[in-house]
Order: sequence, then structure tokens, then C-alpha cells
Amino acid sequence: MQFLDDSLLPENQEKLVIQVAPYGPQWLPGDFPEDIPVTMADQVQKAVDCYNAGATVLHLHCREADGTGSKRLSMFNEMIDRIRTACPDMLIQVGGSISFAPEGEGAEAKWLSDDTRHMLAELKPKPDQVTIAVNTNQMDISALMNADDIAGTCLTNPAMFEAYRNMYFECGPVFMEEHLKRLVANGIQPHFMVGDLSQLETVERLIRKGHYNGPLVLNYVAIGSGAAGTHPADLIEFARRVPDGAVLTIESVMRNVAPFNAIAIALGLHVRVGIEDNLWSRKGERMTSVQQVEQMVRLANELHRDVASGPEAKAIYQIGTFYQSTDETLRKLGYAPNRQPGQRGVPRWEYA
Ligand SMILES: [Zn+2]
Repeated sequence: MQFLDDSLLPENQEKLVIQVAPYGPQWLPGDFPEDIPVTMADQVQKAVDCYNAGATVLHLHCREADGTGSKRLSMFNEMIDRIRTACPDMLIQVGGSISFAPEGEGAEAKWLSDDTRHMLAELKPKPDQVTIAVNTNQMDISALMNADDIAGTCLTNPAMFEAYRNMYFECGPVFMEEHLKRLVANGIQPHFMVGDLSQLETVERLIRKGHYNGPLVLNYVAIGSGAAGTHPADLIEFARRVPDGAVLTIESVMRNVAPFNAIAIALGLHVRVGIEDNLWSRKGERMTSVQQVEQMVRLANELHRDVASGPEAKAIYQIGTFYQSTDETLRKLGYAPNRQPGQRGVPRWEYA
């Protein structure tokens, strides 16, 4: 993204879209009983509470009545339907891993098969977005967590810790190309979860080769392991490398979330919060998802950055918009055109 002389002035920035991830598929209900909803009614109410606090994009996973992460798409359908009714202006973004929780003690934490994840394109009612990870990679969610961060949670159980430490996901070219095709065919916007520049380049290649024609809405996922860490220079460089037409949200982990999001709000980017990423306020003090949303609203207010309403977030994310061709996509996103045979120098758009 380019930053002009006046790009840091809040009246020139897009209104802030706050994503919230309040379900925390890696946690068990006992890890934070005050803030991990288990019944369907409570899961729906959590979405409503986050929306009322200022969050406009809901990152959704689903729990069974016994508290385990649901892998049944019928549960997702029911939850999406009930949240649509309770909170019609909240954007629903389904987590593309579905649930990576281990089936039992000592089992692996793993992403579901390609075919199961492809079924997310068939959810009814359809969500606004499904997240798509990029490139096959490790996802050691504990990489940037210390003993204080996991105190009082299931990750203090060595078997669970090992299960999550050794998690990886498969999102190779065959999966990504097919998944994008299915999502777009069903009018669902892919939300790209991008951990570093090589993953961003993979997304650009998919677009340049015609595998995706639509808005580029993405998270910079700075959770360590197979993704970026918390060096601010990497965040800034990532923002610089994202094309002007993209919508960039910053996501990190545990108590890095607030400082990273403060940078994001100042730069005119967007933020993600919620107990899937972070459990803490001050060191040693738990913080609910709603409290995390409220903190983002306070930070935005202090910097005079407006917070987007639900309909405004939908417009910023360009939900329902798709493009007709690779050229249109590259142009709308602000990428250079593809090189024509024999063309020298940097390809540029011709304007009459
Ligand atoms: Zn998730």
C-alpha cells in the first residue's frame, strides 16, 4: 500500500473494521468458563454481544453441546442461520479449518481433509466469507506463547500442548485453486489468511494466473511458527507490499494483540481480537472477547478513527463483489498488469 502525506489522518482512512474471533476452538470450556459459550443459544448471544460492542466481522467456529469443537456442518448451518436472524448486519466469516481440536487426549490436533473443507462452500445459509490459509505449513499455535499465557488452560496438559505444537495445515495449489473456485461459484468471498510475504506472493500468483477474480481481503497472521512473528518492521513491510486495493487486517497472538492492533489502527488498517487469539488484558488479568472489542473502540476513538457499522464493513469488504477477468482484478487491486510477450520494463496500465 502506498502512504501519501495525508494517509495517517483519520478522516482519510477507511473506517475501522473490527473482526472478532470469540469461540477459541483450541480452548476447552473450562479454560475460560465466563467467556466460552457452549450452548447454541450462548454462542449466538456471544456474536450479538460482540456486535453491540463494535465488532462487525464474526470469525466463526462452532461447539457441540458437550463443549468439543464441532466438525458437523449441520451445526454450522444452524449457527449461521440463527446469527443471521439475531444480528443481520454482522458479517459472518467461517474459519476454514472448521475445527482443529484433537478428538481425545493424546490425539493429533489437525486440520480436516480437503474434501471436508471444500464442503464449507455448501453451507446454507451461505456465510459472507470463508477463510483460506495459504501454502502447506506448520501452525504451532504455542510458538509465541509462554507459560503465563497458557496458565489455567488445557495447553498446560502436556499431551494437548504436544498436539497443538505439532499442528500443520495443507493448503497446496490443488486445494487452493479448487477451494477458490467453489467459494466463488457459491458467491462466498474468500478471506485470505496470510502469514508472510511468500504466502502473499502465492496469492498474487493465484490471481495473476486467473484462479481468483475478486476483492483481496486478508489478514496478516503474525502468530509465529510457519507465519510471521511480531517484529513491527515485518508488519510494515507486509503492509507496504499489499496492493492499494486490498483490505488488510492485523492478527497476532496473546498480549501482542493490543500493541499490534494499535499500530494497525494508526496506519489505517483493520484489527482482529477475541479469545481465539488472546486471553489477556494486563499481565495475569483475563480479558473477554467483548472487552477486547471495547478496547479497540477506545483506541480508535482516541486516534479519532471512526469505527465502521455493519453495513459500512460490508461495503469496505466488498462482500458480494466479484470481477470478470484477471485484468479487471489486477487493475482494481492496484497490481501491475501481467507482462505481455516480449514486453520489457515494468508492465503498466495504459490510460487514454
Ligand atoms: Zn479460527
